[in-house]
Amino acid sequence: MTSNPTVQSSSLETIKNREAAITQPPAQASVQTAAYTLVIADIHLQPEADHPINLAFKQFLVEQAPKAEALYILGDLFEMWVGDDIGALQYSAAIQQLNALTDSGTPVYIQFGNRDFLMRKKFWQATGATYLKEPYPVTLYGTPYLMLHGDALCTDDKAYQRLRRVFRSKLFAFIFLGLCHRRRLAIGNKMRQSSQKHSQNKSSEIMDVNASAVLKDFSRFPEVQHMIHGHTHRPAHHIIQQSDSNNIHTKPVLNRWVLGDWRPDAQIIKISHTGIELLTYPEHSK
Ligand code: MN
Repeated sequence: MTSNPTVQSSSLETIKNREAAITQPPAQASVQTAAYTLVIADIHLQPEADHPINLAFKQFLVEQAPKAEALYILGDLFEMWVGDDIGALQYSAAIQQLNALTDSGTPVYIQFGNRDFLMRKKFWQATGATYLKEPYPVTLYGTPYLMLHGDALCTDDKAYQRLRRVFRSKLFAFIFLGLCHRRRLAIGNKMRQSSQKHSQNKSSEIMDVNASAVLKDFSRFPEVQHMIHGHTHRPAHHIIQQSDSNNIHTKPVLNRWVLGDWRPDAQIIKISHTGIELLTYPEHSK
Protein backbone atom coordinates (compact mmCIF):
# COMPACT_ATOMS: atom_id res chain seq x y z
CA MET A 1 0.00 0.00 0.00
CA THR A 2 1.91 3.01 -1.24
CA SER A 3 -0.64 5.70 -1.87
CA ASN A 4 -2.39 7.46 0.95
CA PRO A 5 -6.13 7.69 1.14
CA THR A 6 -7.61 11.03 0.27
CA VAL A 7 -8.90 12.68 3.40
CA GLN A 8 -11.29 15.54 2.98
CA SER A 9 -12.02 17.67 5.99
CA SER A 10 -15.30 19.48 5.96
CA SER A 11 -15.89 22.59 7.98
CA LEU A 12 -18.71 22.51 10.50
CA GLU A 13 -20.83 24.73 8.26
CA THR A 14 -20.93 22.13 5.51
CA ILE A 15 -21.58 19.13 7.71
CA LYS A 16 -25.33 19.65 7.54
CA ASN A 17 -25.19 19.36 3.72
CA ARG A 18 -23.23 16.16 3.89
CA GLU A 19 -25.72 14.55 6.22
CA ALA A 20 -28.00 14.05 3.28
CA ALA A 21 -25.55 11.55 1.84
CA ILE A 22 -25.48 9.37 4.95
CA THR A 23 -29.06 9.57 6.02
CA GLN A 24 -30.53 6.29 7.18
CA PRO A 25 -34.01 5.07 6.26
CA PRO A 26 -36.69 6.43 8.58
CA ALA A 27 -37.82 4.31 11.50
CA GLN A 28 -40.95 2.28 11.02
CA ALA A 29 -42.47 3.00 14.39
CA SER A 30 -43.14 6.69 14.83
CA VAL A 31 -42.55 6.45 18.56
CA GLN A 32 -38.91 5.52 17.83
CA THR A 33 -38.11 8.42 15.55
CA ALA A 34 -37.42 10.77 18.43
CA ALA A 35 -34.98 8.39 20.07
CA TYR A 36 -31.30 9.28 19.97
CA THR A 37 -27.95 8.57 21.57
CA LEU A 38 -25.38 11.21 22.55
CA VAL A 39 -21.61 10.84 22.26
CA ILE A 40 -19.11 13.19 23.93
CA ALA A 41 -15.37 13.19 24.75
CA ASP A 42 -12.60 15.32 26.22
CA ILE A 43 -14.63 17.14 28.83
CA HIS A 44 -11.49 17.41 31.00
CA LEU A 45 -13.44 18.06 34.23
CA GLN A 46 -11.35 20.14 36.60
CA PRO A 47 -10.69 19.60 40.33
CA GLU A 48 -12.03 23.12 41.01
CA ALA A 49 -15.76 22.56 41.64
CA ASP A 50 -16.95 25.85 40.12
CA HIS A 51 -14.86 25.67 36.95
CA PRO A 52 -16.93 26.73 33.87
CA ILE A 53 -16.34 23.32 32.24
CA ASN A 54 -17.71 21.51 35.30
CA LEU A 55 -20.77 23.78 35.30
CA ALA A 56 -21.35 23.23 31.57
CA PHE A 57 -21.08 19.48 32.06
CA LYS A 58 -23.52 19.58 34.98
CA GLN A 59 -25.99 21.52 32.84
CA PHE A 60 -25.56 18.98 30.03
CA LEU A 61 -26.18 16.04 32.39
CA VAL A 62 -29.30 17.66 33.84
CA GLU A 63 -30.84 19.16 30.69
CA GLN A 64 -29.66 17.13 27.69
CA ALA A 65 -28.43 13.69 28.68
CA PRO A 66 -31.72 12.49 30.29
CA LYS A 67 -33.48 12.96 26.93
CA ALA A 68 -31.05 10.54 25.24
CA GLU A 69 -31.40 6.76 25.14
CA ALA A 70 -27.77 6.45 26.18
CA LEU A 71 -24.66 8.58 26.73
CA TYR A 72 -21.23 7.51 25.48
CA ILE A 73 -18.15 9.28 26.88
CA LEU A 74 -15.09 8.50 24.74
CA GLY A 75 -12.30 9.26 27.20
CA ASP A 76 -10.75 12.20 29.04
CA LEU A 77 -13.88 12.86 31.06
CA PHE A 78 -11.49 13.95 33.82
CA GLU A 79 -8.44 16.18 33.53
CA MET A 80 -6.52 13.63 35.61
CA TRP A 81 -7.56 10.50 37.51
CA VAL A 82 -4.96 9.27 39.97
CA GLY A 83 -7.08 6.73 41.85
CA ASP A 84 -10.69 6.18 42.89
CA ASP A 85 -10.05 7.48 46.42
CA ILE A 86 -8.66 10.84 45.24
CA GLY A 87 -11.08 11.08 42.31
CA ALA A 88 -14.04 10.66 44.66
CA LEU A 89 -12.89 13.80 46.49
CA GLN A 90 -11.78 15.85 43.47
CA TYR A 91 -14.81 15.14 41.32
CA SER A 92 -17.54 14.35 43.86
CA ALA A 93 -20.12 16.58 42.14
CA ALA A 94 -19.65 14.98 38.70
CA ILE A 95 -19.79 11.50 40.20
CA GLN A 96 -23.10 12.30 41.91
CA GLN A 97 -24.47 13.85 38.70
CA LEU A 98 -23.50 10.78 36.64
CA ASN A 99 -25.05 8.52 39.25
CA ALA A 100 -28.29 10.51 39.17
CA LEU A 101 -28.38 10.08 35.39
CA THR A 102 -27.83 6.30 35.45
CA ASP A 103 -30.31 5.99 38.36
CA SER A 104 -32.93 7.77 36.29
CA GLY A 105 -32.56 5.15 33.56
CA THR A 106 -30.07 6.61 31.03
CA PRO A 107 -27.14 4.22 30.63
CA VAL A 108 -23.68 5.83 30.57
CA TYR A 109 -20.75 4.13 28.82
CA ILE A 110 -17.21 5.38 29.43
CA GLN A 111 -13.91 4.67 27.67
CA PHE A 112 -10.51 5.47 29.10
CA GLY A 113 -8.61 8.51 27.79
CA ASN A 114 -4.94 9.33 28.06
CA ARG A 115 -5.64 11.31 31.25
CA ASP A 116 -8.17 9.06 32.94
CA PHE A 117 -7.37 5.38 32.54
CA LEU A 118 -7.13 4.39 36.20
CA MET A 119 -10.79 4.31 37.16
CA ARG A 120 -11.55 1.11 39.01
CA LYS A 121 -14.41 -0.72 40.74
CA LYS A 122 -15.31 2.07 43.19
CA PHE A 123 -15.72 4.57 40.36
CA TRP A 124 -18.00 2.28 38.34
CA GLN A 125 -20.03 1.50 41.47
CA ALA A 126 -20.34 5.17 42.47
CA THR A 127 -21.49 6.32 39.02
CA GLY A 128 -23.42 3.29 37.75
CA ALA A 129 -21.54 3.79 34.47
CA THR A 130 -20.25 0.90 32.33
CA TYR A 131 -16.65 0.57 31.14
CA LEU A 132 -16.20 0.26 27.37
CA LYS A 133 -13.10 -1.29 25.86
CA GLU A 134 -11.34 0.40 22.95
CA PRO A 135 -12.05 0.40 20.08
CA TYR A 136 -15.69 -0.44 20.68
CA PRO A 137 -17.95 -1.50 17.79
CA VAL A 138 -21.64 -0.85 18.37
CA THR A 139 -24.70 -0.87 16.12
CA LEU A 140 -27.11 2.00 16.82
CA TYR A 141 -30.40 2.40 14.97
CA GLY A 142 -29.25 -0.12 12.39
CA THR A 143 -25.86 1.47 11.61
CA PRO A 144 -22.53 0.11 12.89
CA TYR A 145 -20.16 2.62 14.55
CA LEU A 146 -16.65 2.24 15.93
CA MET A 147 -15.89 4.28 19.06
CA LEU A 148 -12.47 5.04 20.53
CA HIS A 149 -10.68 7.81 22.41
CA GLY A 150 -8.29 8.40 19.51
CA ASP A 151 -4.83 8.62 21.09
CA ALA A 152 -3.99 5.13 19.80
CA LEU A 153 -4.40 6.49 16.25
CA CYS A 154 -1.65 9.11 16.72
CA THR A 155 1.06 6.67 15.71
CA ASP A 156 3.38 9.37 14.27
CA ASP A 157 4.08 10.41 17.86
CA LYS A 158 6.38 7.50 18.67
CA ALA A 159 7.45 8.82 22.08
CA TYR A 160 3.85 9.12 23.18
CA GLN A 161 2.97 5.60 21.99
CA ARG A 162 5.90 4.19 24.00
CA LEU A 163 4.68 6.02 27.11
CA ARG A 164 1.12 4.86 26.47
CA ARG A 165 2.20 1.21 26.51
CA VAL A 166 3.89 1.73 29.89
CA PHE A 167 1.02 3.68 31.46
CA ARG A 168 -1.62 1.21 30.33
CA SER A 169 0.29 -1.79 31.68
CA LYS A 170 -1.01 -3.72 34.68
CA LEU A 171 2.38 -3.30 36.37
CA PHE A 172 2.23 0.51 36.15
CA ALA A 173 -1.31 0.58 37.56
CA PHE A 174 -0.33 -1.79 40.38
CA ILE A 175 2.69 0.27 41.40
CA PHE A 176 1.09 3.70 40.91
CA LEU A 177 -2.18 2.94 42.70
CA GLY A 178 -0.16 1.53 45.62
CA LEU A 179 1.46 4.92 46.27
CA CYS A 180 0.15 7.30 48.97
CA HIS A 181 -2.23 10.19 48.16
CA ARG A 182 0.49 12.83 48.23
CA ARG A 183 2.81 10.99 45.82
CA ARG A 184 0.02 10.19 43.36
CA LEU A 185 -1.21 13.80 43.36
CA ALA A 186 2.34 15.09 42.83
CA ILE A 187 3.05 12.65 39.99
CA GLY A 188 -0.34 13.39 38.43
CA ASN A 189 0.31 17.13 38.43
CA LYS A 190 3.77 16.61 36.96
CA MET A 191 2.39 14.37 34.21
CA ARG A 192 -0.28 16.94 33.44
CA GLN A 193 2.36 19.67 33.04
CA SER A 194 4.68 17.53 30.92
CA SER A 195 1.76 16.44 28.72
CA GLN A 196 0.93 20.09 28.03
CA LYS A 197 4.59 20.88 27.30
CA HIS A 198 4.88 17.82 25.05
CA SER A 199 1.81 18.93 23.06
CA GLN A 200 3.14 22.47 22.65
CA ASN A 201 6.50 21.31 21.31
CA LYS A 202 5.21 18.91 18.67
CA SER A 203 4.01 19.78 15.20
CA SER A 204 0.29 19.58 14.58
CA GLU A 205 0.78 16.78 12.01
CA ILE A 206 2.53 14.56 14.54
CA MET A 207 -0.19 15.22 17.11
CA ASP A 208 -3.00 14.26 14.72
CA VAL A 209 -4.16 10.80 13.76
CA ASN A 210 -2.22 8.73 11.25
CA ALA A 211 -4.21 7.88 8.10
CA SER A 212 -2.90 4.30 7.95
CA ALA A 213 -3.78 3.70 11.61
CA VAL A 214 -7.33 4.84 10.87
CA LEU A 215 -7.63 2.43 7.91
CA LYS A 216 -6.15 -0.38 9.98
CA ASP A 217 -8.93 0.00 12.56
CA PHE A 218 -11.55 0.14 9.82
CA SER A 219 -10.11 -3.07 8.32
CA ARG A 220 -10.55 -4.86 11.67
CA PHE A 221 -14.27 -4.04 11.58
CA PRO A 222 -15.37 -4.52 7.96
CA GLU A 223 -19.02 -3.74 8.72
CA VAL A 224 -18.18 -0.25 10.05
CA GLN A 225 -18.28 2.88 7.89
CA HIS A 226 -18.36 5.43 10.71
CA MET A 227 -15.56 5.90 13.26
CA ILE A 228 -16.08 8.31 16.17
CA HIS A 229 -13.24 9.58 18.38
CA GLY A 230 -12.00 12.55 20.36
CA HIS A 231 -8.54 13.31 21.80
CA THR A 232 -7.25 15.68 19.10
CA HIS A 233 -9.74 18.45 19.99
CA ARG A 234 -10.24 19.09 16.28
CA PRO A 235 -13.97 18.55 15.70
CA ALA A 236 -14.73 17.63 12.11
CA HIS A 237 -16.35 15.15 9.77
CA HIS A 238 -13.63 13.63 7.61
CA ILE A 239 -14.67 11.70 4.55
CA ILE A 240 -12.14 9.13 3.41
CA GLN A 241 -12.48 8.24 -0.23
CA GLN A 242 -10.50 5.16 -1.13
CA SER A 243 -8.88 4.64 -4.46
CA ASP A 244 -8.89 1.14 -5.97
CA SER A 245 -5.26 0.56 -5.02
CA ASN A 246 -5.84 0.95 -1.31
CA ASN A 247 -9.43 -0.12 -1.03
CA ILE A 248 -9.60 -2.26 2.08
CA HIS A 249 -13.28 -2.99 1.80
CA THR A 250 -15.92 -2.93 -0.85
CA LYS A 251 -17.30 0.24 0.72
CA PRO A 252 -16.42 3.36 -1.26
CA VAL A 253 -16.58 5.91 1.56
CA LEU A 254 -15.48 5.82 5.17
CA ASN A 255 -16.34 8.51 7.71
CA ARG A 256 -14.27 9.72 10.65
CA TRP A 257 -16.16 11.89 13.09
CA VAL A 258 -14.06 13.86 15.58
CA LEU A 259 -15.60 15.27 18.76
CA GLY A 260 -14.45 18.53 20.31
CA ASP A 261 -13.33 19.35 23.82
CA TRP A 262 -15.37 21.52 26.24
CA ARG A 263 -14.16 25.09 26.75
CA PRO A 264 -17.05 25.08 27.80
CA ASP A 265 -18.68 24.99 24.34
CA ALA A 266 -18.45 21.55 22.80
CA GLN A 267 -18.94 19.72 19.54
CA ILE A 268 -20.94 16.64 20.44
CA ILE A 269 -22.49 13.83 18.39
CA LYS A 270 -26.12 12.84 18.14
CA ILE A 271 -27.02 9.49 16.58
CA SER A 272 -30.57 8.58 15.66
CA HIS A 273 -32.58 6.75 13.02
CA THR A 274 -31.82 9.62 10.66
CA GLY A 275 -28.05 9.14 10.99
CA ILE A 276 -25.20 10.89 12.76
CA GLU A 277 -24.59 14.62 13.22
CA LEU A 278 -21.99 16.82 14.89
CA LEU A 279 -23.64 19.58 16.92
CA THR A 280 -22.53 22.55 18.97
CA TYR A 281 -23.44 22.40 22.66
CA PRO A 282 -24.82 24.62 24.12
CA GLU A 283 -26.79 25.37 20.97
CA HIS A 284 -27.05 29.12 21.58
CA SER A 285 -23.29 29.64 21.64
CA LYS A 286 -22.64 28.93 17.96
MN1 MN B 1 -7.00 12.68 25.10
